[in-house]
Amino acid sequence: TMAHSKALVVLENFIGGKFVPCSSYIDSYNPSTGDIYCRVPDSGKEEVEAAVKAAKNAFPIWSSKSPLERSQILNKLADLIEHDLEAFAQAESKDQGKTITFARTVDIPRAVYNFRFFASSILHHTTECTEMATVGCVHYTSRAPVGVAGLISPWNLPLYLLTWKIAPAIACGNTVVAKPSEMTSVTAWMMCKLLEKAGVPHGVVNVVFGTGAKAGEALVCHPNVPLISFTGSTLTAQRIMEKSAPHCKRLSLELGGKNPAIIFDDADLTQCIPTTLRSSFANQGEICLCTSRIFVQRGIYSEFLKRFVAEAKKWKVGNPSDPTVDMGALISKEHLEKVRSYVKKAQAEGARVLCGEGVDSLPLPPGNQKGYFMLPTVVAEVKDESCCMQEEIFGPVTCVVAFDTEEEVIERANSVKYGLAATVWSSNVGRVHRVAQRLQSGLVWTNCWLVRDLNLPFGGMKASGIGREGAKDSYEFFTEVKTITIKH
Ligand code: NAD
Repeated sequence: TMAHSKALVVLENFIGGKFVPCSSYIDSYNPSTGDIYCRVPDSGKEEVEAAVKAAKNAFPIWSSKSPLERSQILNKLADLIEHDLEAFAQAESKDQGKTITFARTVDIPRAVYNFRFFASSILHHTTECTEMATVGCVHYTSRAPVGVAGLISPWNLPLYLLTWKIAPAIACGNTVVAKPSEMTSVTAWMMCKLLEKAGVPHGVVNVVFGTGAKAGEALVCHPNVPLISFTGSTLTAQRIMEKSAPHCKRLSLELGGKNPAIIFDDADLTQCIPTTLRSSFANQGEICLCTSRIFVQRGIYSEFLKRFVAEAKKWKVGNPSDPTVDMGALISKEHLEKVRSYVKKAQAEGARVLCGEGVDSLPLPPGNQKGYFMLPTVVAEVKDESCCMQEEIFGPVTCVVAFDTEEEVIERANSVKYGLAATVWSSNVGRVHRVAQRLQSGLVWTNCWLVRDLNLPFGGMKASGIGREGAKDSYEFFTEVKTITIKH
């Protein structure tokens, strides 16, 4: 109806500093109500072509600015996003289904910090120099931006992950074409409205909205985009590698995980239990770093399980805009069905579902009856070979199993195709070092979770990714290095 369509938010692509309408659109749903509330451009080759052209034109001017000039612009953009923090948080929560509290305290503050962090770090890099006195030569390295960067991001932490790419890319002097997830495009579009005021020249940041198959692939296949930074699933990354192979593109791939928590019998459970609840269920379990396999040493297994399940049952699931709610809605109807199907498979294999899906009832407010909600779900007695212990579920489902020895648990924790993040809980310093060294995992947190220093490398091993991002790593990825030798 007319009344209905009037209420819809209609996004436009941002190309060469201007908002441009698209010839066709896709619907985007509010996950907490099940209503269509937004229309997203269904961009393809043509739109990507225009965006790449704008980015290429902007490159000579942007890349010749000094790091300090670029740094000041990034800081200004950070201030503008921070000024509108509440509006961004509301939009992120509505678009993604996450709680307003999470958007206010994690997503948007981190997006702001991404710009501040790279605005600062870009001022402090040094290059290398060596001397060969016997032949009268000095060698030094010089770094330059690569060109037009293609940035593709997922739906779980929309503005947070997109800015984690945009900030280092433009700080280094590249220009960008970004493609956010078609399911969560609103905050990227809101950010575009602030670029001019921040002083970002036209064409430096272009955003093309649409699906992975059309807009994403057009970007990956574009010959004038020499570098792609991608965060998303391992399956999509395989496709991106294939499609970019003919162009030998530089790729940074941040992919899925099947992250273990290893809890030894000398762990401090008063810290471990609340943190492991968060690491399992924060953001509806839709964080690549979320714990989904909990290995508990036999001696404390029953106590842990009893306390963990009792606390999980206390989590309040419901309207994400209610500040007392702990967990919001999952991203889509399809994703909810997929996550639920894992719980059913586990049950069919003989595992026990101790709380949540299919066990407890989930009362929802009248306005949220059609939302994509599910309760925090704890599954026990699952076999290591089960798909629930091998595949990334990416929802509020966590498996708890017992182990006996250090040797055994390292082997079992490493027996998946992924290697993104792990947590180790023990008060024995020697043990945490030994275990951390042997885990096949890009990140290991001991006695904590998700404490990040953006200076240090972030990324996964095995099927969890290729490359690392962070202060130095992103600088290296987003610049091309040259070795110059001078003989005197
Ligand atoms: P996805 O792979 O389906 O999509 C990610 C992005 O890629 C989206 O923008 C999508 O439109 C685009 N895309 C899809 N097909 C494409 C193609 N053929 N060519 C180019 N682009 C394409 O992932 P998702 O479902 O949006 O996100 C969830 C996944 O992301 C999970 O596996 C999660 O672990 C992973 N993730 C990883 C990290 C990390 O830092 N390692 C962080 C967050 C999420």
